[in-house]
Amino acid sequence: MRATHLAAVLLLTGSAWAGDRTFLGFQLLDLENQTVKWQSPRMGEGAAVTYAFATEAVDTPGARNCAKLVPPEKAYAPSHITAEQFRHEAAEAFRMWEGVANITFREVRDPRAANILIGAQGEPQGRAFTNVALKGSTAGEKTIERSLICLNPRQPWKVGFDGRLQVYDIRYTIAHEIGHAIGLDHPSAAGELMSYRYDERQKGLQSGDTKGVVLLYGPKPGASPYADIETGSISAPGTPDAKSGSRFGIGEAHDKAPRSR
Ligand SMILES: [Zn+2]
Repeated sequence: MRATHLAAVLLLTGSAWAGDRTFLGFQLLDLENQTVKWQSPRMGEGAAVTYAFATEAVDTPGARNCAKLVPPEKAYAPSHITAEQFRHEAAEAFRMWEGVANITFREVRDPRAANILIGAQGEPQGRAFTNVALKGSTAGEKTIERSLICLNPRQPWKVGFDGRLQVYDIRYTIAHEIGHAIGLDHPSAAGELMSYRYDERQKGLQSGDTKGVVLLYGPKPGASPYADIETGSISAPGTPDAKSGSRFGIGEAHDKAPRSR
């Protein structure tokens, strides 16, 4: 198990480049001294995951993040974003990940039945957070039981990039939080979707994001996972200026071992 994992990691370093990004371009979440993923703890094995939007207040006692979750319109409505827009942007965010890896996402109506629940924060702080809860599995290692994604209702939100880095794009933010919700952490300050600094110089998954999710769930069946990873990217390999973006403010991705930035 460990050896297999290590071999896969080494294999994937081949096309990574250094620079301002970390060497691998991704960082797997490490909770309770193990990597975490949905359904199967085995690296490279796919998963089918459901999601829903909160329709009422959901309390999760003991959760480090999103312990008090309320319906997401509390976050997007003040920014004049409609329910249809929000739902569409969230669906597109999930599509980014399932476009490259063997993981699928399906919206369900019942928030209690959903694997990933999206809402607004009942106690506003930062910008957005994800809480990842684990459960035991037959294979010995734990898998993800439920992930909560919550957006700050006191912050402004927008649909699409406009260069104003103090107002975060909904799709980008949810896609970043989904990354946490499925087992990825922050690899670096900038350059990847999973980097902790909000940035509008690239759209969609970057090469490190793709490598990370493919390591966890395997490549999307029938697709070449690395064929178009730079599509939509306007950043050439170089030195991303980590100082120009705002801090993403979405550092705490899980129950334990909070990161300080
Ligand atoms: Zn984050």
